[in-house]
Amino acid sequence: MNIAVINSGSSSIKFQLFHMPEKKVLAHILVEKIGEFISDTILEYEDKKLVITSVIKNHHDGLEEIISLLSKHEILEDFSSLSAIGHRVVHGGEEFKTSTLIDASVLEKIEALIPLAPLHNPANLEGILVAMKKAPDVPQIAVFDTAFHSHMPQEAYLYALPYELYEEHKIRRYGFHGTSHAFVLKQTAEILQKKSEELNIITLHLGNGSSACAIEGGVSVDTSMGFTPLEGLIMGSRCGDIDSAIVIHLHRELGMSIDEIDKLLNKKSGLIGICKNNDVRTIIELGDEKSQLAIEMMVRRIKKYIGGYMALLGRVDAIVFTGGIGENSAYIREMVLESLACGIELDYAQNKRNATIISTKISSVKLMVVKTDEEQEIANECLSLLKN
Ligand code: ADP
Repeated sequence: MNIAVINSGSSSIKFQLFHMPEKKVLAHILVEKIGEFISDTILEYEDKKLVITSVIKNHHDGLEEIISLLSKHEILEDFSSLSAIGHRVVHGGEEFKTSTLIDASVLEKIEALIPLAPLHNPANLEGILVAMKKAPDVPQIAVFDTAFHSHMPQEAYLYALPYELYEEHKIRRYGFHGTSHAFVLKQTAEILQKKSEELNIITLHLGNGSSACAIEGGVSVDTSMGFTPLEGLIMGSRCGDIDSAIVIHLHRELGMSIDEIDKLLNKKSGLIGICKNNDVRTIIELGDEKSQLAIEMMVRRIKKYIGGYMALLGRVDAIVFTGGIGENSAYIREMVLESLACGIELDYAQNKRNATIISTKISSVKLMVVKTDEEQEIANECLSLLKN
């Protein structure tokens, strides 16, 4: 069966077509700059790559372009022959603890969650509505970034703010990157030949956006992102954890507006804030004083989360690196892992090779590198929902 996965952003649609259960990728299409003067569409299938420029006014036109490319290149003749379309939805709030077949009431609930994810949920919703119009008889399934973290205990997800803010306004930690942490957990279990439920692991998704997750018995019990994806690790352009009184100070003493502070914390902070660059590979290559400082700050924060999660979990079977930085940068992994103590030992040669297991045989905790694939996980979720 063929399953499509749609990740709809505010000005882009990422589309992937899978043949399941073989997990074969039949096509990968990226429509970028939707609504701009000229849009780019990149189609990859078999070993071909095509770049098309055209005018794509909105998401509807974007999906039209995708459907016509699939047919033109004989990848998928009939869009309504799909067995399911899986949609990435960033925020599922407290409502959605698992992936869900979309109906009118689910649409309403995703819409009601817009205040919690004003940048993401509207675009996700737009993608769903357009796909429902184009393929009304195909099951559409929502897979939420927050769902994997929805079983965190209350002491993990509550902020020490007046309890009414949680009760009345749902201000709490939700966690994000859940689809990636869930996928990496399953891969880790497969590699270690264990069941997910048997594993206590720490997953580190390190990309442009980064998050850490403490997984106990296969369940996320804590994660570094919170009410929004701003909290936690130091990221490409996001500050991660800061003293929240800084926000008050920026407003009160520096006269910055809330919108300016929002931009400062989300777009001008993190690595960019320290060394004017958010690309870790480039920062490492540059290696000047500010670049080194930015990397050291980022690494220190990761170490602090590992230490905290080790204390929470007690027994840790593996620390798993994923995401663009986690999968590719032996340098960052080495900085994070050296001198972690507690009998954790990095195999430097295996680490340099980006091997899957990068700890020595006598290490007390397995150190691993596992490639994430959120689209694959969404297709897997669709498949298991169709089966039930
Ligand atoms: P996103 O969160 O946007 O999906 P990615 O997971 O693709 O981002 O990660 C992007 C980051 O990974 C960038 O900072 C990039 O420099 C970094 N990266 C990719 N390859 C390497 C590498 N070989 N060494 C260091 N950093 C790398």
